Amino acid sequence: MKLRSKEPYWLLKNGLIGTYPSLQKDIACDVLIVGGGITGALIAYQFSSEGYRTILIDKRDISLGSTSASTSLLQYEIDEPLYALIKKVGPNAAIDTYLEGVNAIEKLTALIKSLKADCGFQLKQSAYIAHSERDVEWLATEFEARKRIGLTVKWLSKTKLKQAFGVMGEGAILSDVGASTDVYQLVRCLIEQSVKRYGLKVFDHTELIHVDYLKTKCEVTVTGGHQIAAKKIVYATGYESQAMLKDKVVDLISTFAFISEPLKIPAYLKRTLFWDTEDPYLYMRTTDDDRILVGGEDEQFKNPERRDRLIDKKQDVLLEKVSSKFEGLKLIPDYAWAGTFGVTKDALPYIGEHPDYPNAYFVLAFGGNGITFSVMGMQILSDAMAGRPNKFLEYFRFGR
Ligand SMILES: Cc1cc2nc3c(=O)[nH]c(=O)nc-3n(C[C@H](O)[C@H](O)[C@H](O)COP(=O)(O)OP(=O)(O)OC[C@H]3O[C@@H](n4cnc5c(N)ncnc54)[C@H](O)[C@@H]3O)c2cc1C
Repeated sequence: MKLRSKEPYWLLKNGLIGTYPSLQKDIACDVLIVGGGITGALIAYQFSSEGYRTILIDKRDISLGSTSASTSLLQYEIDEPLYALIKKVGPNAAIDTYLEGVNAIEKLTALIKSLKADCGFQLKQSAYIAHSERDVEWLATEFEARKRIGLTVKWLSKTKLKQAFGVMGEGAILSDVGASTDVYQLVRCLIEQSVKRYGLKVFDHTELIHVDYLKTKCEVTVTGGHQIAAKKIVYATGYESQAMLKDKVVDLISTFAFISEPLKIPAYLKRTLFWDTEDPYLYMRTTDDDRILVGGEDEQFKNPERRDRLIDKKQDVLLEKVSSKFEGLKLIPDYAWAGTFGVTKDALPYIGEHPDYPNAYFVLAFGGNGITFSVMGMQILSDAMAGRPNKFLEYFRFGR
């Protein structure tokens, strides 16, 4: 599957992030992680640091799937507002997921600090802007729902929003927890450190072709016919995972982004992630190299040729929308790209076992908060592997 257009900014900026060999012999491990995007990198870090003999394979170069296209806003606020998620999945799952999103950002902050990872990471606040007067009503309900569970949020009136940020909107929730990063670089750091500190073995251009799921292990055949004997497999295979599953878990759609030339950005914009309530939503953030990244304009199809033909047009629409929303902001687009994106029925990920795949786990961190969900996946799978209970195995299970 063509997960993204050819030239996402992070790939142009950073180039290939590491060269690893392809697998050229038979090998054994405790945990085989399939997929070297942000999900696979985080899970590889978790398991290798816990002392499991861990192998990571990817059929592409490391991180050249969706991760290289990600705009990497890190938020606890998922695509389904809290008050609506409560109605869909019940108060426990909804509230726990929102609160765990906050924990995930804190955990990632600490991890990045401990790795001294040079990945443009910046802590930010997040403004969720009402696009229309009609949206103010439910956004106010959402504000109350968040306040009730102890999240630190402020309500910004239309006037205050304009005064504080120069933003045209009908009102907004301002949250104090959020961050942004260059997730492509973060993958490089995670994998390098896992290799150096914990003996992770990495093979790129190595595709999982076939698996015999035996009683206590899996026998995996990869490109070239070599075998990996693994006690457990973790599928961190991103949006391509749907093709492995009988049950439909995700709708694959297309999304678009552009990044501006560097410019002098006012401090109040640098400190904040912005997104709005329009459907599809518009979002904007700054980068550590003083550019502005704008995304949205989702289309309900996944055909990559059709998607990529729209990039120039979508850049124009995104530019027009962001210019009318942010008073006085003059952006010159530098690069634009597109990617496949996944939407689940309740905006929650799928993490855990699947009945058709014994001795294996999936971490399918779909949705606008994919990265935050992948961070949550670290502890969830760690607990699953060790036989410890974890309520998110229930909330994020297949067949829910
Ligand atoms: C334009 C865009 C903007 C986004 N913005 C945000 C955002 O602001 N915040 C956020 O949290 N998320 C965002 N996302 C989502 C986020 O990028 C994804 O959740 C995340 O990158 C998924 O990472 P992953 O590791 O699960 O998948 P991927 O990065 O796609 O990695 C999966 C890997 O599995 C490998 N693979 C698949 N099958 C096999 C096989 N059989 N054998 C070997 N290897 C295999 C693939 O080659 C691939 O490298 C965005 C996505 C896009 C496209």
